[in-house]
Amino acid sequence: MKAVLILATQVFEHHPALDDPDIDVVFFVESDAAFRRHRYHAHKIVLLLSAMRHAAARLEDRGIRVERITLDRGLGFLAGLRALVQEHDVDGLAWMSATDRGVDVRLQRFCDSEGLRSRVYPDELFLTPAPDVDEWFGSHAGARMEDFYRWQRRRTGILMHGAQPAGKRWNFDADNREPLPKGGVDVPPHPELAHDDITRTVIAEVAERFPDAPGDPAQFWLPVTPSDAQVWLTDFVQHRLELFGRYEDAMAADEPFLFHSLISPLLNIGLLRVDEVVEAAVAAGDRIPLASLEGFIRQVIGWREYMRGAYRAMSHLREANHFALTRQLEPWWYSGRDVPDDLPLPVRTVLARVHRWGYAHHIERLMVLGSWFLMQGYDPRSVYDWFLALFVDAYEWVMVPNVQGMSQFADGGVVATKPYISGGAYLQRMGSWWPTAREAKESEFTSAYWDFLDQHEDLLAGNHRLAVPLAQMRKLRGR
Ligand SMILES: Cc1cc2nc3c(=O)[nH]c(=O)nc-3n(C[C@H](O)[C@H](O)[C@H](O)COP(=O)(O)OP(=O)(O)OC[C@H]3O[C@@H](n4cnc5c(N)ncnc54)[C@H](O)[C@@H]3O)c2cc1C
Repeated sequence: MKAVLILATQVFEHHPALDDPDIDVVFFVESDAAFRRHRYHAHKIVLLLSAMRHAAARLEDRGIRVERITLDRGLGFLAGLRALVQEHDVDGLAWMSATDRGVDVRLQRFCDSEGLRSRVYPDELFLTPAPDVDEWFGSHAGARMEDFYRWQRRRTGILMHGAQPAGKRWNFDADNREPLPKGGVDVPPHPELAHDDITRTVIAEVAERFPDAPGDPAQFWLPVTPSDAQVWLTDFVQHRLELFGRYEDAMAADEPFLFHSLISPLLNIGLLRVDEVVEAAVAAGDRIPLASLEGFIRQVIGWREYMRGAYRAMSHLREANHFALTRQLEPWWYSGRDVPDDLPLPVRTVLARVHRWGYAHHIERLMVLGSWFLMQGYDPRSVYDWFLALFVDAYEWVMVPNVQGMSQFADGGVVATKPYISGGAYLQRMGSWWPTAREAKESEFTSAYWDFLDQHEDLLAGNHRLAVPLAQMRKLRGR
């Protein structure tokens, strides 16, 4: 008998194994050990478990044979898979290539040791086939996202008129990235989805089995099926895409989501496909300003695919630590309790959001959390572990280039051209966090910024993009 193993991050509506006439049975493994490897946010565990159980139920409804190892068996991933293989007399195993490094190798070794024939389908979490992205990175050493993005647009024809980019520009960044207007702006709420029996059972199970997980499982808020993911996407395109570009970098002390799409947790486990997302956005047509549409498309087919390529191309990134930082994150980052009183307001607010939702939008991750971690001298590996545990969309392939590369500059400037750090003035401009500009300027955040530039002056001095801030720092310090 031949089986396909569907991983928790591959719960597609249409998995390629369904077109494979050789497959007799579908396997799912809920690995207790995998969910305990880090102190994961409860919503991440609920999302993965409920999405897997829904995928199994959908297949069974279609008359497909499904065999599962459930969490209550307390098995690790390979032990669970071995139990399935032995219980169902399997002699061949197929799976979709996993995005995180090492999974395919472990599965192949497992097949070899169990005497199973193996078959691997290409990874469908991305628009770009893995060999193409590898070839691009292999032939464009040191190339930046913008180069990749133009290649991607030309390759796919997305937002192209023949050889010309729509609107005759590749990039509308200059039209985007405004702070919210002074009087505020109405932010359409994301849809509230009713939980079915499967999700309610998972929520109760997670509450019982993982009592120390950050976040409250009862407040779980995400879609867990491809059809609800479509509702989520349609809602974004109808109500938030129009202002996505303009307020992409904006922050607000009282609003966690603004005009962001909230689709990364869904894209990263196959509940949405990149081509569906692109199609839905492009189909919105002239109603959406091109600057917003292009800004969103750039995130999805540019940044997301570029980061995956960077991860594949740079295997050393995971351990990088350019500034040799050693401080470990304190336990309160995980528990959300006993947070020190002097933690600056933006950091405290975003931390509370992460505990509530397992989510923060890009600029909060980069310029509030990431910037604070770097300026405080936290070890990038400790930072990585925290993001991996606390965020509902976090997996190794996307975390390594974003956390180690873009946010913590641990690679010394491969993914980003300069460390993304700022004083309070930038946060105040984009988010009005403090009552006055003066308080922003005199905040802990600003002091941490100057201290960081001072402490790491030697390593930063060669970066021409930091010449002005370094000169300001020297002047402030009377040098
Ligand atoms: C420190 C740090 C950690 C991050 N960790 C993750 C993570 O664990 N998982 C994750 O998917 N993204 C991560 N990102 C990238 C980005 O912040 C999130 O993809 C985005 O905030 C998700 O929210 P959204 O779906 O509302 O995105 P939107 O702002 O609506 O953007 C649309 C989509 O574009 C894609 N995208 C945009 N930027 C990136 C990027 N830099 N890398 C990958 N995809 C991108 C995502 O799929 C996202 O859903 C991280 C960024 C930083 C700076």
